[in-house]
Amino acid sequence: MSEELNGTFIDVEVGDSVAGDAALAEKLAEVCPVDIFTVAEGGVGIVRENLDECVLCNLCVEAAPAGTIRIVKLYE
Ligand code: SF4
Repeated sequence: MSEELNGTFIDVEVGDSVAGDAALAEKLAEVCPVDIFTVAEGGVGIVRENLDECVLCNLCVEAAPAGTIRIVKLYE
């Protein structure tokens, strides 16, 4: 199971296993160049209004345990 948060062009899926990981949330907030991640309620928060700014740099995917963060393109 993973939580899906919709932007118009981009979805970011955060796996349940890391959703409550505040340390990872801080790391993600640091690496994402467009501030899509934030620390929310002691876990990984998504700044929805920034979702579509995603530049597909993959830094968040690389910073998180394998398979826990997914960037989904809603366009081709
Ligand atoms: S791929 Fe890059 S820009 Fe997109 S959410 Fe991850 S870190 Fe941020």
